[in-house]
Amino acid sequence: MLPIERGLEIVMSTAKAKQRADWMAAEAVDLLESIHRILREDVFCDADSPRFDKAVRDGFAVRFEDLTHVPAVLTVIAESRAGAGTDVRVERGQCCEIMTGAPVPAGANAVVMVEHTERPSATSVRVLKAPRENEGLLRRGAEARKGDKILGSGRRIGLADLGLLASTGKSKLLVSRKPRVAVVATGDELVEVDQEPQAGQIRNSNTYTICAQVKDAGAEPVILGIGRDNFDDLRSKIRQGLEHDILLVSGGVSMGKYDLVENVFAEFGVEVLFDKIAMKPGKPTVFGHRRNAYVFGLPGNPISTMVAFHMFVRPLILYLLKAEKTTPTVLEAKLEASAKCDPQRASLVPALVRFHSGQYWIRTAPWKGSSDLVGLARANALIMIPRRDGTLEAGESAQFLFME
Ligand code: AMP
Ligand code: MG
Repeated sequence: MLPIERGLEIVMSTAKAKQRADWMAAEAVDLLESIHRILREDVFCDADSPRFDKAVRDGFAVRFEDLTHVPAVLTVIAESRAGAGTDVRVERGQCCEIMTGAPVPAGANAVVMVEHTERPSATSVRVLKAPRENEGLLRRGAEARKGDKILGSGRRIGLADLGLLASTGKSKLLVSRKPRVAVVATGDELVEVDQEPQAGQIRNSNTYTICAQVKDAGAEPVILGIGRDNFDDLRSKIRQGLEHDILLVSGGVSMGKYDLVENVFAEFGVEVLFDKIAMKPGKPTVFGHRRNAYVFGLPGNPISTMVAFHMFVRPLILYLLKAEKTTPTVLEAKLEASAKCDPQRASLVPALVRFHSGQYWIRTAPWKGSSDLVGLARANALIMIPRRDGTLEAGESAQFLFME
């Protein structure tokens, strides 16, 4: 059976070979719409940042040389407030009252916080604590210079980026177009969320988790509904699905008599590149492609579907979006209790991770297998247990992914 890494390599190399120039074109969006989109241009600072020597404290702009011995009394000669500076120059024995965000007047080289002063009179101030040179202020260009590249193409736009883009005057920017991802659930047993399951039926939950994962990865889900376990129904859903950038079909890919999805993929000429992965849960994961569409058959069990999406579909979406980082963030923790390995498959087990005295600690969460959403909902991570004999002992390191 194919190891996870090999499966991922196949997905990514297929995407590389298929990449067409017009794919995942860039589109201009308003700044407000750009959070978590993938930036498709380099962004340069439109001016020095800060634009002028700027106070970062409320207090008094001084010459630090005047304050080697404190307390010392200085003459207050002017005021500099945010939005309006002053033309005066601070000479020996003088200072200027100043507010956070205001320009530091010529001659001054430190700002003393108001908390470190007393006012004997309206025109004088007593400084109680000696400042260091450049304390309490930021020099022009200290953060970035005009023309510096501050964000690069491929960056997933985060919260700080949004503020940075605003401050450098980018009200519109180029981001990747969202791939359209068709989502099909399959199964005769499925009913919709607002319906009451009859004997032997269950509610369709995969459509919801998959759509959320699609959105979180930066793509646009298109719900095609539930396909029943017969050829006619599956053909009609899969035909529609193949018109999208990616088709995700959940369920119907295991060994059961009514698992017909792979047969229908074959009828439509989907080239299947793998249909089993040495992964637990998530073994019957199918990947293939046809013309301009990537196709996945995700295992029906709710946790298997989520894990398979996370390991294979998410990196593909991020690749199509031209994101600089496509793989999930893997962290390391110490095991609080032993965990059994499987010699056939790498396991991704719901776990509880916490940060304590400088490191992550992790233990498997109680769960009843790959359909147990109750167990998964109580966990906050997946431990990655390698494919091998034996056990990972308490105290050993293990890799994990956050899953929230
Ligand atoms: P299958 O791969 O179709 O045999 O499905 C495996 C298991 O996952 C079965 O117990 C199904 O009832 C369940 N399952 C399949 N699709 C869904 C879905 N959309 N939502 C919740 N459970 C599902
Ligand atoms: Mg089924």
